[in-house]
Amino acid sequence: MFKRVPGTKDILQEESFLWQNLERISREIFSLYNYKEIRVPIIEEAGLFDRSLGGSTEIVQKQMFLIGKEKEALALRPEGTASVARAYIENNLDKREGFAKLYYTGPMFRAERPQKGRLRQFHHLGCEAIGSYDSAIDVEIVSLADNLLKAFSIDGYEVEINSLGCRKDKKELTLTLREELKGKIGGLCADCGRRFEGNVLRVLDCKNESCRKIVRTMDIGERHLCAECKGHFARVKAGLDSLKIKYLVNHYLVRGLDYYTRTVFEIKHKGLGSQDALGAGGRYDNLLKELGGPDAGATGFAFGIERLLLVRSRKPEVRSQNLVYVIALGEEAKKEGLKILDNLRKAGVSCDTDYENKSLKGAMRKANDLAAGYVLIIGEDELKKGVVTLKDMKTGEQKEVKTESLIEALEQC
Ligand code: AMP
Repeated sequence: MFKRVPGTKDILQEESFLWQNLERISREIFSLYNYKEIRVPIIEEAGLFDRSLGGSTEIVQKQMFLIGKEKEALALRPEGTASVARAYIENNLDKREGFAKLYYTGPMFRAERPQKGRLRQFHHLGCEAIGSYDSAIDVEIVSLADNLLKAFSIDGYEVEINSLGCRKDKKELTLTLREELKGKIGGLCADCGRRFEGNVLRVLDCKNESCRKIVRTMDIGERHLCAECKGHFARVKAGLDSLKIKYLVNHYLVRGLDYYTRTVFEIKHKGLGSQDALGAGGRYDNLLKELGGPDAGATGFAFGIERLLLVRSRKPEVRSQNLVYVIALGEEAKKEGLKILDNLRKAGVSCDTDYENKSLKGAMRKANDLAAGYVLIIGEDELKKGVVTLKDMKTGEQKEVKTESLIEALEQC
């Protein structure tokens, strides 16, 4: 017996229905904001992530699924932003349309230790707005994330935002942190001990209690921000206020990746337990240039679909109200049933029948399980009279309908 790889999931029919629903809603919301879908490959050159996310990040150091040898290695993508940025540059989208609003959904891969809400293959629902430095797009992105959650009927989440500042400000913050943490390395967890050299900013959002204690005594605030970045952040906050979007400024929020600059944000939900981030994102003004592309400001975010589904209140959903279930009893009736199914499908009516030779009672039970809206029964009697028995599963009413006027009869139901 083969088993699925730990940290991966089979999404069975009952659940894939929920996924489709979420995807449908998100397409509607993205289109309200004029984002267009982009589909990028699942494998990329590993170097793309090294260059974008940063060689010292946990994802690149420990979590990439690599195929092949070092220099030519390919990677199963751990996230979408780097791929979208690569595609923007490679396809000359800067020349074709300049500012581009793109969304995507699909599987991402990280070799993490699996636990609740943490998988090795998970799915992102994300978007990127590339080609603008305007603070208004940061506001739009957070508002879009907020509206997506509302459209998914998710509440009880918190939006946290911060500004890392430009590349120079980030460097400043890194130096200050190294200076201030120098005498306290012994009190940090083993991971942060390593981060001190490689990526000291990560110490700020480490979840380890002893690191938190040390970090919370430090006054981070906005002192690392230059005047321009301070202004940008002030405009983002004012924009969110004007849209009445609730948020919390968390100066310890850094997000681990090298490409982030200025605004970063994370959306948390208590219902998730220790892996409490529903989604996250921010600005990455240097990434396009870093990858050999144009000087283009950009911002984006990604939600984890599995986590969205973990906290989404599960209202009972009517699955297939309009399904017509055909029960044909006997050889001849089955032949007639096939023709009826064909006609119904050609008329755009969703329908199905019993392929397991069930009794009338068994087939009715199946129709119920499928939440069919209507059942059509074709027995010997019906065949003789050229009719079918049409049963409305909601009201229980049933009547005979001439086979040739079945579609009109269903339209009138
Ligand atoms: P990140 O790229 O790490 O900021 O991830 C964005 C979102 O993807 C997170 O907020 C989670 O909702 C989701 N996510 C990240 N890693 C995983 C994982 N290993 N398993 C499930 N969801 C994840």
